[in-house]
Amino acid sequence: MNEVRTRFAPSPTGFMHLGGLRTALYCYLFTRKHKGKFILRIEDTDQERYVEGATEVIYHTLRECGIYWDEGPDIGGPAAPYVQSERKDSYLPYARQLIASGHAYYCFCSREELQQRRESAESRGLTWKYDKHCLHLDKGEIQRRLSAGQPYVVRQNTPLEGDSGFDDLVYGHISAPNETLDDMVLIKADGMPTYNFANVIDDHLMGITHVIRGMEYLSSTPKYNLLYRALGWSIPMYIHLPTVMRDAKHKLSKRDGDAYYSDFIKKGYLTEALINYLALVGWNPGDEREFFTMEELIEAFSVEGLSKSPAIFDINKLTWFNAEYIRRMDPDKYLAMAMPWFEQALGGMKIDCTRLAQLMQSRTEVFSHIPGMISFLRERPDFDVSLYENKKQKSTIASSSGALELSRALLDSLETWTEERIHGALLPGIAAAGLKNGTVLWPLRIALSGQLSTPGGAIEIAYLLGREETFRRLDSALRALRAQG
Ligand code: GLU
Repeated sequence: MNEVRTRFAPSPTGFMHLGGLRTALYCYLFTRKHKGKFILRIEDTDQERYVEGATEVIYHTLRECGIYWDEGPDIGGPAAPYVQSERKDSYLPYARQLIASGHAYYCFCSREELQQRRESAESRGLTWKYDKHCLHLDKGEIQRRLSAGQPYVVRQNTPLEGDSGFDDLVYGHISAPNETLDDMVLIKADGMPTYNFANVIDDHLMGITHVIRGMEYLSSTPKYNLLYRALGWSIPMYIHLPTVMRDAKHKLSKRDGDAYYSDFIKKGYLTEALINYLALVGWNPGDEREFFTMEELIEAFSVEGLSKSPAIFDINKLTWFNAEYIRRMDPDKYLAMAMPWFEQALGGMKIDCTRLAQLMQSRTEVFSHIPGMISFLRERPDFDVSLYENKKQKSTIASSSGALELSRALLDSLETWTEERIHGALLPGIAAAGLKNGTVLWPLRIALSGQLSTPGGAIEIAYLLGREETFRRLDSALRALRAQG
């Protein structure tokens, strides 16, 4: 095989969509696996959709994900420039060449004329495709209109007979009767190429050997291949990828906040976990492995593992991956990453964050869950009698009252407030009273936290809250329990 050259060709229209990111990832893995060149090309010919700053978002996101390009707008390369608007002048000569050979033609139809003819076709129950009206203008007429400066587009002249087929490495043989192909616009009235034209010209000029992109381009590919042939160029290999979906029916959506890479980072998902999971959305390593570094992905990646069925992005599965990555994280890194979330929940409260981080690391699935899990440390819990009455724990209002009184008495003499001391004061005292640890620690934890489930138990929470706050909560719970009894 010649040197593999692939490209990721995003349009700078906003944030990085997860589907696009997965395309970039597969392109990158495929290229690295084959020791080829990975090219980044910015497709900004649709000026209406252009969003300021979006190109920087693309650079930033890819690099953050560990996806590096060998040629691209910011680093240059032998096929520069890599931004389509900067290549604007290179497309028209090819369009002219196609016109000269009869594979394309000038079209002067106005928007209104097209609209009218479309409506008339549709009212007769026909599917509209451009009716080749301007193909039949004679040379003199075309010249006259061009000289008069009449706006025009250039259209592809697709044949009316025969078939255009090709083999996609994922979807297999795709065949399209030529009569179904429409005469798509190659050059727009503003002189810019359409995506449909620019992708062919650029993929050829950039020496792309494998085109890896979303399956939404599968049905247009026969038309692209006609252009390659008309220009006498060899056709690249195609790897079309199934759309990334939320479930069988729904796409990922901006409105639901699950479409963009940045949505997930904001929520506290880790880039490594996201990339690991994303790699598996539509690709199967062929064995049971689930955890991969980028290097391992490169090693394991193969086109045979790509699936053509819709790729479901399951947020629960991502969350599971994320939790695993957090669990395996270096504790210092966890602390640093958790800190802003601790601060969000705790404000200026003075607390041993290192200890809190130790208690939280194995329980954190997503960083954005942290504030909800620890806000009880700052906000005093409301009294809820039902929490104390628990059959399984054999806990009642009376037993809880007794347990809190005992805890109070045991802790009262403690001057140094460390976990070790709290432990040393409570446990022997509970044993001496002939009680089980749970009988006392269960209601104590509820009194301190107001929750059935907490990071750490009563001792750790008492330590984190500090002596004063522990007694304040204990006393308030005791008063409320006594009022019940
Ligand atoms: N600019 C196109 C997009 O963002 C790229 C498609 C392709 O890779 O050819 O969808």
